[in-house]
Amino acid sequence: MSGELHTLGVAALAAALRSRAVSALELAQAFAQRIDAYAALNAFIARDEAATLAQARRADELLARGDAAPLLGVPIAHKDVFVTRDWPSTAGSKMLQGYRSPFDATVVARLGVGRVDEPAGAGCVSLGKLNCDEFAMGSTNESSFFGPVRNPWDRERVPGGSSGGSAAAVAARLVPAATGTDTGGSIRQPAGFCGATGIKPTYGVCSRHGMIAFASSFDQAGPIARSAADCALLLSAMGGFDVRDATSAERPPQDYVAQMQAARAGASAARPLQGLRIGLPREFFPTPLAGEVQAAVRAALAELQRLGATLVDVALPRTELAIPVYYILAPAEASSNLSRFDGVRYGHRAAQYDDLLDMYCKSRAEGFGIEVKRRIMIGTYVLSHGYYDAYYLQAQKLRRMIADDFQACFAACDLIAGPVAPSVAGRLGAQGDDPVQAYLADIFTLPASLAGLPAMSVPAGLAAVDGAPALPVGLQLIGNYFQEGLLLHAAHALQQATDWHTAVPTGV
Ligand code: GLN
Repeated sequence: MSGELHTLGVAALAAALRSRAVSALELAQAFAQRIDAYAALNAFIARDEAATLAQARRADELLARGDAAPLLGVPIAHKDVFVTRDWPSTAGSKMLQGYRSPFDATVVARLGVGRVDEPAGAGCVSLGKLNCDEFAMGSTNESSFFGPVRNPWDRERVPGGSSGGSAAAVAARLVPAATGTDTGGSIRQPAGFCGATGIKPTYGVCSRHGMIAFASSFDQAGPIARSAADCALLLSAMGGFDVRDATSAERPPQDYVAQMQAARAGASAARPLQGLRIGLPREFFPTPLAGEVQAAVRAALAELQRLGATLVDVALPRTELAIPVYYILAPAEASSNLSRFDGVRYGHRAAQYDDLLDMYCKSRAEGFGIEVKRRIMIGTYVLSHGYYDAYYLQAQKLRRMIADDFQACFAACDLIAGPVAPSVAGRLGAQGDDPVQAYLADIFTLPASLAGLPAMSVPAGLAAVDGAPALPVGLQLIGNYFQEGLLLHAAHALQQATDWHTAVPTGV
C-alpha cells in the first residue's frame, strides 16, 4: 500500500498500523521522502532522521506488544512554538536559533511515543518542526527568520499564519496532521487558506506548558488535519488538565470522537443537525467582504441548513473593536513574555558589546525581527505609566464586553458561523510595509480569541481567482465554552455530506 500512504488521514493510518498492513518505520520513511520532495514549500525548519526513526522503532515495538495507545505510529509534526527534546525549538526566531529544550511540551508528550522506560502518550511519531511566524506574530508566515512558507495551492501565495508550516504541510500531505497554536487566529486562518481543518479549543483545554509564550491569556494549542474526525482524535490526546499550567481547565479527560458522533435528539441520517441553531452575526458579513469568500461561506451555510440546522440572525456589535483591543493586549503580554530573551537567561547573545546594558541592547536588536520589535515597543508603551489607563485598562474592559456580546448571542443560538478571513490567501510580499493592513484582516478570528471561545476552520470549497477555481475558503464555526464536541459534530456532519475537505492542490 506504500504508493498511497500519504493520501490516508490519521484514523485510517492508525487502523493500518494496528492491522500491521504497514509499520511505523515504513510510514516515517515514506513521509520523510515526501517532505524532501516538497522542500521548496519551506514548511519544515528542523528535521532529524535519527530521532524520527528512533520514535518509529519504539512505536513498532509497542505495536508488537499490543500496546493500547490510540495513535501508535501515526506521523505528525509540531509547530516550532512547542519545545521538544529531540529537535531545536526556535519559534521561528533567530533569537532561539539552535536552542534545545531539556523537556517536551505537554502537548508534544501527550501526542508522542515516549522513550524506553517512559509511558507512551498517544503514540505519534514526529517528523520534525514546522515553520511559523516569528514568535507566532503574523498572519502570513513571512515574519519567520527561516523564510516564508509557500502555499501548496499556489506557491506564489502565502499559506497564512502564524501556523503556516503546519497548514501547508497538511495540505501538501507531508504529514496527516500537525499541531498549531492560535492566539488571534493562527490555527484557523492558515487552515482556511490551505484547505485544512483546524480547531482552537476553549482557553484552558490544552496545556500551555512548553509552548513558547506570545500572549499568555490568549495562547491555545490545537490540531490542524484533513478532517474534523481526525481533529477529534488528536484533540482528545492533546487536551486535558495539566498541573504544570496554572490556567489549565480542571476537567475530566474528554472523548471528542464520541462527542462528535453522538446523535442529536430528533436527528435523522438525512438531517443530523436537526434542531441546531446557527447564529450569523451581521458584522461577519459586511458589504466589502470579497465576493468569492461570501459565495463559498453561503454555500456551506446552505448545506448546514439542508442537514437540519436553522440559521438565525445575531449581532456582535463590537466586532470592529476586536482589532484595536487585541493589538493592545497581545503586544502588552508579549512585551512582558519576551523580556526573558536577553542573551543571559535565554537566547542569542551579541558577540561584541561594551557593558551589560549594551549587551542586552545588541542581543535583542540582533535576535528579534522587525514585527517582534514593533510589538514589544507597542506593548511597552501601552503598559507604561501614564498610558496604562488610556490603553491597557480600556482594552481589558472592552475585552470583557466582547465576551459578554457572545453570551448574548448564545442565548439565541448553539453555534456561530462566518468566514475565517475576509479574503483568500494573498500573494507573497503583497503585505508590503503596512502592518495595519495585516492586522485588519484578523477581524473575524480575533473576537473568539478575546472571549477565549473554541472555534474551528472548516473547508468551504474553492474560490475562483482570475476566473478559475483555485484557492480554499474557510468557514468559521464558533462554540460556547467547552463546546468542542458540538463544533466537531457540526463540522463532521458537513464533511460527511460534502467533499470540500478532500480537495487536493494540483501537483500534490
Ligand atoms: N495574526 C495575529 C497576530 O499577528 C494572530 C497570531 C496568532 O494567532 N498567533 O497576532
